[in-house]
Amino acid sequence: MTNPHTPIRHLRSAVAGVVGPGDDGWDLARRAWNLAVDQRPAAVVHAADAGDVAAVLDATRSSGLRVAPQGTGHGASALGALDDVVLLKTDRMSSFEIDPVARRARVGAGTLWGDVAVRAGEHGLAALHGSSIDVGVVGSTLSGGIGWLSRLHGVASDRVTAVELVTADGELRRVAGDDELFWALRGGGGGFGVVTAMEFELLALAEVYAGGLYWPVEVASDVLHAYREWAPTLPDEMTSIIRLMHLPDVPGVPEPLRDVPVIDLGAAFVGDAAAGAELIRPLRDVAPPLIDTFATIPAADLRRLHGDPEQPVASLGHHTVLRELTAEAADVLLALAGEGSGSPLLSVELRQLGGALGRPRPGAGALGAIDGEYVLYAVGPPTTPDLARAVDAQLDAIVERLAPWRTGTSYVNFSNRPIADMASAFQPGVHERLRAVKAAVDPHDLFVANHPIEAARRAP
Ligand SMILES: Cc1cc2nc3c(=O)[nH]c(=O)nc-3n(C[C@H](O)[C@H](O)[C@H](O)COP(=O)(O)OP(=O)(O)OC[C@H]3O[C@@H](n4cnc5c(N)ncnc54)[C@H](O)[C@@H]3O)c2cc1C
Repeated sequence: MTNPHTPIRHLRSAVAGVVGPGDDGWDLARRAWNLAVDQRPAAVVHAADAGDVAAVLDATRSSGLRVAPQGTGHGASALGALDDVVLLKTDRMSSFEIDPVARRARVGAGTLWGDVAVRAGEHGLAALHGSSIDVGVVGSTLSGGIGWLSRLHGVASDRVTAVELVTADGELRRVAGDDELFWALRGGGGGFGVVTAMEFELLALAEVYAGGLYWPVEVASDVLHAYREWAPTLPDEMTSIIRLMHLPDVPGVPEPLRDVPVIDLGAAFVGDAAAGAELIRPLRDVAPPLIDTFATIPAADLRRLHGDPEQPVASLGHHTVLRELTAEAADVLLALAGEGSGSPLLSVELRQLGGALGRPRPGAGALGAIDGEYVLYAVGPPTTPDLARAVDAQLDAIVERLAPWRTGTSYVNFSNRPIADMASAFQPGVHERLRAVKAAVDPHDLFVANHPIEAARRAP
């Protein structure tokens, strides 16, 4: 049995910024963005640069401890127990640069998507960020990354042009091109090393036609059934999300949505306002919305379109991928999350897939394509133990009752729970290839990822 105090002493002598149990600032240091996750690692290190990362790996490699890289902790809920793990936080490594001529960004491991979106927007450029400003670029891109432009431009991981990381042997590597490790890092997750920097392409896109329509939940059935007929007709230029949402009456929630159950359509269209408005019209015509925010907006403003929380919150979530949204599937959703359902959830949403998300780009990374037409993500607050149980039960019920329409695949970034079969997150053959890369670069399983790839066993 390893004595955890000795390795922490090693750590402290090797690198600054180590916080251990009982130290001042311990609770803040071990905190994840998702406040429902009570992380209790052996120690936390706030690395300042690649040199610090290498020093942390050197100090832990022979100690019996493992290392979990973490940017924000948005994806912390699947990590599991961290007793013998050093939580290596990258939040100090948050500087980034944009080259507007080459249309490239180079970001440190702790960079947040909202910051990149704003700076790229100043140059008339857009990034393939997701729906939240404070999700980490590196953590989300390592497992794909989908957002408002995805049906036209695919997953964020396939825009990555180079990755710098410190591998288990303590070496700082830069990988790109046809390097097998570079392929694995574009969708295969965070178990291959500690990424210190990532470079990726930006899009020449200054404006989009985008917004939201919010209706009272009383018309949810009409809207959802109209949506399921409408969404499959959309061109790739439009990406949409339909959501049943009931937010509490608390500060931070926009006034018209406080304790008002709604169904809302969010969409972004890469094209002009007239064409976008014409595409939205069938949904606008279903019933008069309470709120209609569709307009031509700077592409950078997509970062806030979904209205995600902009500070740490506690949440329990669950996801599944659907191959279609039939009338029966829509009715299941309405029964479990619509008017009169008594659902304790804050939000149940369907994000539209398809388009470029279903077609691997030439030279794609490990994620490549996502099967299915929608990814469902549902979330609720674990404010009390009773409420947490009710939320979990409702999450289970939704995913179970949708079984007839599920693809059986997973989208790692939306998986708040451990994935029983990681092969389900990838196209056939990819998981085995990732396991071979893991065996080559981290044979002793130094790195703890929230959704780990188990190293392939070597032939005896
Ligand atoms: C409110 C909210 C909105 C979201 N919206 C979207 C969305 O629109 N689209 C989408 O695709 N996803 C979305 N997500 C999911 C999000 O992409 C994942 O939770 C992702 O893992 C977050 O990355 P992070 O770095 O912020 O989180 P972390 O929890 O810090 O990281 C997640 C994992 O990434 C790996 N990792 C992180 N940094 C490093 C590093 N430097 N080196 C090696 N491995 C590393 C680790 O394995 C870590 O466990 C959302 C999540 C939330 C909570």
